[in-house]
Amino acid sequence: FTDADAPDGAAGPGAAADELAPAPVLAVVGRPNVGKSTLVNRLLGRREAVVQDVPGVTRDRVAYDALWNGRRFTIVDTGGWEPDATGLQAAVAAQADLAMQTADAVLLVVDATVGATATDEAVARVLRRSDRPVLLAATKVDNERLVAETAALWRLGLGEPRPVSGLHGRGSGDLLDAILEALPETPREDIGQSGAAGPRRVALVGKPNVGKSSLLNRLAGETRSVVHEVAGTTVDPVDSLVELDGTLWRFVDTAGLRKRVKTASGMEYYASLRTRSAIEAAEVAIVLIDASEPIAEQDQRVIGMVEETGRALVLAFNKWDLVDENRRLALKRELDRDLVRVRWAERVNVSALTGRSVAKMAPALRTALASWDQRIPTGQLNGWLADLLAATPPPVRGGKQPKVLFATQAQTRPPTFVLFTTGFLEAGYRRFLERRLREEFGFTGSPIRLSVRVRE
Ligand code: GDP
Ligand code: GDP
Repeated sequence: FTDADAPDGAAGPGAAADELAPAPVLAVVGRPNVGKSTLVNRLLGRREAVVQDVPGVTRDRVAYDALWNGRRFTIVDTGGWEPDATGLQAAVAAQADLAMQTADAVLLVVDATVGATATDEAVARVLRRSDRPVLLAATKVDNERLVAETAALWRLGLGEPRPVSGLHGRGSGDLLDAILEALPETPREDIGQSGAAGPRRVALVGKPNVGKSSLLNRLAGETRSVVHEVAGTTVDPVDSLVELDGTLWRFVDTAGLRKRVKTASGMEYYASLRTRSAIEAAEVAIVLIDASEPIAEQDQRVIGMVEETGRALVLAFNKWDLVDENRRLALKRELDRDLVRVRWAERVNVSALTGRSVAKMAPALRTALASWDQRIPTGQLNGWLADLLAATPPPVRGGKQPKVLFATQAQTRPPTFVLFTTGFLEAGYRRFLERRLREEFGFTGSPIRLSVRVRE
């Protein structure tokens, strides 16, 4: 992942941003063999059928990015989650339940040539309780004669049955229109998450005397832009607007820094609270570390706060003018020993005194924020995951092999992934997944979260 793909500085919808923007999810549910996969392929506009007629073969890709009338959405084909024979009805109901939890709308597919079975009715019962839109497709309607028969499906209580033929394509345009009408413009997870527009918020934190005030003054001076005061009221203006590299940034809670107020030792608790609240108010934190001294416990505590809070992170090693070859080697060892947890952080070596590499600060902030905002499309994520799982499946536990059914990036800021599985995944395997996720998609400068939901 390169910075070049990211929108410039502050959030603004551009072409690149749209590519990464979250798309709403439609989950397709129904009994095995009703024609879900054929229909999904049709909805995706694929000519080649990827339907596998081999029984017991689980399809490895389950989520696809779809486009209709200029709108993007993700189709999740739950066909790949099909039950291992035991209790079809319960299994399909569980599948519907999972779809309701994860999708923005659900499409129930029923085989029109068969009509509603007891299983279809059980699933419909589950879906009627859904608080999100549910559509009903009657598929295998290859000819006019069958259209009339679909009317019987009204009794499922899911509204109008929509006749469609996955095989021939008949009715698929109308179905797509109905799907778009049912789907929200943006996925529900992101509602209210976009946050206020304007300059991106930065916390400049670190233990006393690492050079925070010096760096802030340098950053403000470098660009010959005076540190503006936010909200220009008579009360203490707590934030500073600083222009770096052509972009305005909002440094939060810098009042103390600008006044060069020194915290007395007895005030440490207060200082720590203030650090925490600055980090919470920010989107990205610059943790300043005095590179001329051994990394201290207090440095690690501040870094820990950023991690816990889930903010993007730039580690700035200051006073680089005092670092000689010996110290540089020692620092490298300290990094490997004390800061492996945040190996993913953006790093810059600077000197507030001489101005060395201070210009690298803005690009580092941008990279970290782009990672923090990054969204992996569901289709791409699952494609990658399927290959990874095939090569390295989760370890067997208690004689059982847990299966990972489907993954989705539920949130950004920070990127948060949810894996749906049939069993518990060991911590070691989760760390392995996280490592590979980073290898594949980057996320430099941002923490990522990975959670596992076990399907009962
Ligand atoms: P899934 O298990 O629900 O995903 O079902 P599939 O998509 O694998 O389809 C099951 C069988 O039904 C396959 O043999 C398909 O060729 C057939 N089928 C699917 N859609 C249609 C359709 O619209 N018309 C007809 N005649 N057959 C279909
Ligand atoms: P703060 O407490 O984190 O705000 O740190 P200050 O900005 O007040 O700096 C503490 C001391 O470190 C001051 O004496 C600064 O002059 C000095 N200092 C800050 N940055 C640098 C640097 O890059 N190199 C050197 N040699 N000294 C620095």
